[in-house]
Amino acid sequence: MSIKGVLETSCPKGCEPFEAEFWSFIHGGKSPELRELVAAKECNLVACPGCQGVFFVPAPYIYFEPAEDILAFVFPESFRAEEERWRRKMHDDFIGLRKALGGKMPLDMEPELFFGLDSIADLLNSETYRSEEREVMEAVAGELGLSVYRIHPGFARRQGLPASLPFAPAKGEGVTRANLIAGLEKLLAANDRLSAYQDCLVALRAAADSPLPPSRA
Ligand SMILES: [Zn+2]
Repeated sequence: MSIKGVLETSCPKGCEPFEAEFWSFIHGGKSPELRELVAAKECNLVACPGCQGVFFVPAPYIYFEPAEDILAFVFPESFRAEEERWRRKMHDDFIGLRKALGGKMPLDMEPELFFGLDSIADLLNSETYRSEEREVMEAVAGELGLSVYRIHPGFARRQGLPASLPFAPAKGEGVTRANLIAGLEKLLAANDRLSAYQDCLVALRAAADSPLPPSRA
C-alpha cells in the first residue's frame, strides 16, 4: 500500500516543466523494493524529458515501517531552512494519516522529521544491521536453549539496545532482571563477538532499580 503522487517540476538546468511521478507514501514492510531504494538514496529520482539529466523530485514523502516502529516524514534538504514550518505541517499531516489508517497505526507511534537522503538512509541501514545482529543472537540463543524477550522496537532503537534479549527462565517463570542477566551471561560465554549484548549486560547489572525495557506489543 505505497502511494504515488505527481508534481509539476523542472530540472535544475531549468528545462520545460513536466509532471514527475514520485512516491509520496512508502510502506517499507509491504514494499521492500522501495525500502531498498530509500536505503540506497535513490528514491524519487527522475529523468528530465528535456535533457535526460536525473534529479530528485523536490517533494516530501512519508516512510512507514510499523514492525520497526518507524514513521518518518522525509523532506528535501532544501526545506531545512524552514524547519519549524515543516514540523508543524508534519503534525497536521500525522493527524490526518492516523485517521486515514485507522487502527493500523500503533497508538504510541511518534513521527520523526528527516531532511535529505542521508539521515533516513542511515536509519534504515542501521536497522538492517541491527536486525541481522538480532537474527544471529536468536540463532545462538536457540542452540543454547534460551528464551527470547522481544523489546518494543522503537524503545530499543532510541535507547541503543538490541531489539531482543536472551533470558534463562526457571520453569513457568516470565522475564526478570535476574534471568535476563543469566541469559546474557550464557550467550556471551558461547559467543563473545556480540558486543551490543555485552554492553546490555553491563547496563542491566548497573541499573538494578530501573524497570525492564517494555516488550513488543
Ligand atoms: Zn533538463
